[in-house]
Amino acid sequence: MDMLKKLFSLENRTILITGGSRGIGRVVAEHVAAVGANVVIFDIQGDKAAEAANEIAEKYGCQTYSCEVDVTDYEGVKSCLQQAVEQMGRIDLLFNNAGIVIQKPVIETTPEEWNKVIDVNLNGVYYVAQLFGKYLIENGIKGAIVNTASMSGQIVNYPQLQASYNTSKAGVVHLTKSLAYEWASHDIRVNCISPGYIFTELTSFVREDWREQWAESTPMRRLGKPEELAGAVIYLLSDSASFVTGSQLTIDGGFTII
Ligand code: NDP
Repeated sequence: MDMLKKLFSLENRTILITGGSRGIGRVVAEHVAAVGANVVIFDIQGDKAAEAANEIAEKYGCQTYSCEVDVTDYEGVKSCLQQAVEQMGRIDLLFNNAGIVIQKPVIETTPEEWNKVIDVNLNGVYYVAQLFGKYLIENGIKGAIVNTASMSGQIVNYPQLQASYNTSKAGVVHLTKSLAYEWASHDIRVNCISPGYIFTELTSFVREDWREQWAESTPMRRLGKPEELAGAVIYLLSDSASFVTGSQLTIDGGFTII
């Protein structure tokens, strides 16, 4: 048990999670709290973020804080980060996870829709990572970051068409590598997870027959659960991954191998 704790404990660490009110972010927030972390939630709906933070504090007896912020608002992120650091004392880790999808053929996608997806999924990830990395470097903190990319950064999904999403996620993978290189000398590790189809609110609204097709196209013949990503995030943020940086961990039931 001691070895397990040594490998994967996040005790005495505080983790910032974007998009932590629901879906993957929320489930990961619960899991990191269960292995000892304090949790800060940034989400676009402040009431839901506060509700999640309160529930996690009560359930796991950890310290939590939440802030309402749109990750595309650079100044807003800066101000929330300042407030969170004041409240928590220090933040060590980041799960940079908020994201959206618009499913439309390229021909029908407006410039506004394209920009919206790139803004949240790529610029938002960049803004939060940049401000958090700056905070770590200025304070000499040897932290770690996990960005949420997607298998869509490696393959083109079907039958749904979503070029803006696929492009944004490919950008997140390469941003991850670029940040990992720039910050390696500061002992800040940057990695990403690339989930396959995971059943959350983000994927619940699509046509039932598409979801069935996704499951059939996955070698494991099912969609994943957010819980099945939590261990990967904990590993990449923990000291177990002390020599891992710039990597992409694909968790997709085998979708991308065929
Ligand atoms: P959800 O839609 O369930 O949760 C996303 C959360 O992020 C919501 O709370 C949402 O708020 C919040 N959010 C959205 N936009 C912003 C913004 N601009 N600023 C701050 N918060 C915001 O999605 P998932 O949990 O499924 O997805 C999480 C991440 O995982 C995303 O990056 C997604 O692309 C990625 N992913 C998901 C997969 C899947 O199959 N589900 C597969 C691969 C990757 P609100 O509730 O108001 O929308």
